[in-house]
Amino acid sequence: MTGPLTIGIDLGGTQVRAALVRDGEVLRRAAEKTDKSGGPMPVIAQFERLIATVCQDAERARVAGLGVSAPGPLDTEAGVVLDVPTLPGWRDFPLLQTLRQRFEFPVVVENDGIAAGVVIDGRLIHGRRGMAAHVGHLRLSLDGPICDCGAVGCFEALASGTVLGERTRAAAALDPAGFLGQLAARQALDASHAVQGARQGDPQCLALLNEEADYLGAGFTTLLHLYSPELIIMGGGVSEAFDLLSPRVHQRMHRDAMPPFKKIQVVKAALGGNSGLVGAAALAADKAGQSGG
Ligand SMILES: [Zn+2]
Repeated sequence: MTGPLTIGIDLGGTQVRAALVRDGEVLRRAAEKTDKSGGPMPVIAQFERLIATVCQDAERARVAGLGVSAPGPLDTEAGVVLDVPTLPGWRDFPLLQTLRQRFEFPVVVENDGIAAGVVIDGRLIHGRRGMAAHVGHLRLSLDGPICDCGAVGCFEALASGTVLGERTRAAAALDPAGFLGQLAARQALDASHAVQGARQGDPQCLALLNEEADYLGAGFTTLLHLYSPELIIMGGGVSEAFDLLSPRVHQRMHRDAMPPFKKIQVVKAALGGNSGLVGAAALAADKAGQSGG
């Protein structure tokens, strides 16, 4: 038996990615640079193009659902984007309603950012209204950058891939002659350019990755103390740099965790950078299953 075909879309401040997914496996995928020229509608047109790319006409009739992961804050029940700092013109946009009008398959919309599924004794914890484990909003600092949620110093305001991208652009502006500065003269930078530079040994990029590892280490240490997991599994875009980040993340956790927690390891999710896409598609599959389709 095979599961339903679903489409996952990962809407980010730099890229829109789409994948056709079955049973957690990406069958086809495509990406475009996010069109920020005129608010939501050009991006919705990108959704349509990407879906047409990953999904042939014959398959389209069999698609059981579309899952969209969008930056927040987002009212996931009403499907309304409240505000997206990385996407101008999106405030109060009824994303879910618009997509439901455009597409023939059921649509679910979910918030991205640093998110966690916490499995305790084999069970995923849900909490009231399914809102448990909003670990992106763990407060790591009493000052620092303002989070999308409005608070300051949240884990995700310090450590998300989007924020690493912001720090990458700031670093480029500080040193126009450096690796990042020169790249920035030719293209818009995101976190992947810091990773690229770090792989080539560029000191500024290595420092950015070290800082990222420090924030991840601090956040993960708090998760160890809260949940006492056997293992932390890290997915998402930043996990593409897992090999670079891992030694220092573990160093920080080893330094800061209480003794009985010191040996716990962080590993890279098998899905790596595709976890947002596959996660969004899995939500759509769940929804299709619930409604009996
Ligand atoms: Zn927050």
